[in-house]
Amino acid sequence: MDLNTITEVARPADRAALGPWRDGDAFLAGGTWLFSEPQRHLRRLIDLTALGWPALRVTPAGLSLAATCPVATLAAFEPPADWRSGGLIGDCCRAFLASFKIWNVATVGGNICASLPAGPMVSLTVALEGSCLIWSPDGSERRVASEAFTRGPFDTALAPGEILRAIDLPLEALRRPYAFRRQSLTPLGRSAILLIGARTAAGGFVLTVTASTRRPVVLRFEVMPGAAALAARIAAGIPEDLWYDDIHGLPDWRAHMTREFAEEIRLELGGARP
Ligand SMILES: Cc1cc2nc3c(=O)[nH]c(=O)nc-3n(C[C@H](O)[C@H](O)[C@H](O)COP(=O)(O)OP(=O)(O)OC[C@H]3O[C@@H](n4cnc5c(N)ncnc54)[C@H](O)[C@@H]3O)c2cc1C
Repeated sequence: MDLNTITEVARPADRAALGPWRDGDAFLAGGTWLFSEPQRHLRRLIDLTALGWPALRVTPAGLSLAATCPVATLAAFEPPADWRSGGLIGDCCRAFLASFKIWNVATVGGNICASLPAGPMVSLTVALEGSCLIWSPDGSERRVASEAFTRGPFDTALAPGEILRAIDLPLEALRRPYAFRRQSLTPLGRSAILLIGARTAAGGFVLTVTASTRRPVVLRFEVMPGAAALAARIAAGIPEDLWYDDIHGLPDWRAHMTREFAEEIRLELGGARP
């Protein structure tokens, strides 16, 4: 839709050109959420795509994603064969059920900053132990773990004027074997439950619960738990008011399916049968 309160669109070519943050500003990435509903409080858009960041880079430390990396570019990326979690990238991109038009402009960072429970880039980067690089308006930088970046729907660790610059995914996490489960109410609906499990190099087990909860929940185990221990940790780690409730699914159903999928993942990754 037209955002008819906007009077200016800034297209900074580098960080120095960003200028001071003002009330009524918003950063523009792909614009697929920003232009999807009225934004009457906004006056100026600052187009981050003009900064020209390389979309993604494989480094000795892992994978570095620019916040402006389009989802379609990430989906087309072919991970090295020894990244046993490489398939998770495609799984999460496909969990973003939108047309090719949306896929080609929606960005990884825009999805994370929109901070919806059904945000598949949130699921991906939290499960892969991502580290968010944040640019602050005073010119400094800071880092926040992806797990702590997303606090709830439309609530992130960003202060006003801060920019999510990049998300770095470490090699150890990319090399983990993983299992993935996703469910939505309708065949082409938004994710209502999205669980990712992984075995760590040290023999541990990590379960990342997203979509069914208001914010990501990461449950870590030093060794693969039994069925009862896993169920107990889910009960202890996810209080009643953390199950998400919206048009895409009732909290009781999300909680039930989370428990079911968690146990399936535990078995798939080598957990003992009860
Ligand atoms: C058909 C359709 C289906 C969709 N399905 C889903 C879905 O399944 N799951 C889901 O989560 N969303 C979904 N969306 C919503 C939205 O398209 C996605 O969240 C998308 O990834 C947003 O990315 P964007 O680059 O377009 O962000 P934008 O719309 O440009 O920005 C989103 C928000 O993040 C801020 N922002 C963007 N980038 C940065 C940055 N680097 N630093 C700081 N702030 C930033 C913006 O100011 C804005 O508040 C869907 C939308 C459509 C139209």
